[in-house]
Amino acid sequence: MDYYAEIAQRLPRQLRCFVDGEFVAWKDSFPKLSPVDGRELSQVTEADAATVDAAVRAARRAHNGPWRKTTPAQRAEALRRIADGILDRFDEFVAAEVADTGRPIAQARALDVARAISNFRTFADLVSTAHSECFESSGADGTQLLNYVTRKPLGVVGVISPWNLPLLLLTWKVAPALAMGNTVVAKPSEESPTSATLLADVIRDAGLPNGVFNLIHGHGPNAAGEWLTRHPEIDAITFTGESRTGSTIMKAVADGVKNVSFELGGKNAAIVFADADFDAAVEGILRSSFTNAGQVCMCTERVYVERSIFERFVSELKARTKALRVGSPYVAGNTTGPMISKGHRDKVLSYFRLAVEEGATVVTGGDVPHFGDDCDNGAFVQPTIWTGLPDTARCVTEEVFGPVCHIAPFDAEDEVVARVNNSKYGLAASVWTTHLARGHRVAQQIETGIVWVNAWYARDLRTPFGGAKLSGFGREGGRHSMDFYSEITNICVRVD
Ligand code: NAD
Repeated sequence: MDYYAEIAQRLPRQLRCFVDGEFVAWKDSFPKLSPVDGRELSQVTEADAATVDAAVRAARRAHNGPWRKTTPAQRAEALRRIADGILDRFDEFVAAEVADTGRPIAQARALDVARAISNFRTFADLVSTAHSECFESSGADGTQLLNYVTRKPLGVVGVISPWNLPLLLLTWKVAPALAMGNTVVAKPSEESPTSATLLADVIRDAGLPNGVFNLIHGHGPNAAGEWLTRHPEIDAITFTGESRTGSTIMKAVADGVKNVSFELGGKNAAIVFADADFDAAVEGILRSSFTNAGQVCMCTERVYVERSIFERFVSELKARTKALRVGSPYVAGNTTGPMISKGHRDKVLSYFRLAVEEGATVVTGGDVPHFGDDCDNGAFVQPTIWTGLPDTARCVTEEVFGPVCHIAPFDAEDEVVARVNNSKYGLAASVWTTHLARGHRVAQQIETGIVWVNAWYARDLRTPFGGAKLSGFGREGGRHSMDFYSEITNICVRVD
């Protein structure tokens, strides 16, 4: 048996909420099914309203306790202990991510778990080396004033995260929230609960005071997620997920005028100019469309290729896509895992059918693969390329969140920029060109939160991350996270 499959067998079978420093008593639960073969992996607590309330109140008590008096250096030390704790249990975290999502083992090792460790280390470094603004000024009466800026914690932060990069996206928010002195109630996706449970264990072992980190499992609407957003004792909500959910949460927090940070959906474009390094561009689009079976918020679903290289590009990307090996992460050589669930697979398949109805040419894929083994009970789809759709087609405007891209030709730079920007989303884009000035020029005109030139999904955690339009609200990363997770206060002192 595969090494990680064996570790997965030893992962907890009952996933509990973690409140006030303890895993709480077992109540109602729901099954977490494997997207690889459909078998039950665990039973997950469905937190009731009382558990959500207990978690928020524990976080409030902890916020009023010694945690808010800790120095940045002490909190940085706590974050480093958490990072070390994840590293000590690296293979368990990898096994959890692979079991819950079916993602390739190599990806879980190199991206998901490695980034979780970096998230804690980066914010430990940032908080312990941060500086502040200071202005010397004179009042109207000539008095001398010293104005300095300090960051206080917001209080209790609710963290709501999705299933596509479960540990990476959860820790991306938990680490800076703790670094800035907040306490946290986290709700991971119901589809990917295991790594969050391991994280609670690691945080307990790292010796953080009870109530500083709390974990509630459960669903979103009319369940743990919604109750968390509506709880009066929550000071801020940071959320990653679908744009529609973001809109619902915004309404839920409106009456309390709570701080929100939203990282939402996308319909990301890539532009390939004829002067691009052809092989690098094909490789880049292969990665950006099919990494994690297309279930990364930054994945490319719209590809625009300059007409003179269009046919050659489609043909080469088709060949490379057909060479992807879809299947169980536990079989060596497989590159592409399943959709997170059968429900999500059905949504992706509905777009496969819609594309045909809308008149697409299916260049490759468009169906469900057959394995002749247990994986036929999983949630796999074929990596798929379409051409021939107008920019107005639903398959070119709506987020599919699967292994799929539509490729369209273009003729001129201004034209393609306008077509890329003609989207209600604005998360990420990539530009492939060897023309230096064009790379800068086009990147500066694209209406997204991040643009890569001759790259994709390279992230420096000190840079701002977030989306425009329906793709989000606010920025996180580096000092932008430090700003969001704190109440920035001006202290003005008369010094004469
Ligand atoms: P989702 O919105 O369905 O769920 C995300 C989380 O919100 C889950 O924990 C869920 O239980 C919770 N939730 C659902 N309804 C809720 C409600 N009414 N109140 C409170 N919580 C609620 O998203 P998903 O399907 O888990 O994730 C996929 C989506 O996330 C895609 O649209 C993808 O583009 C987006 N995403 C964006 C980014 C980014 O950084 N911009 C990153 C990853 C994923």
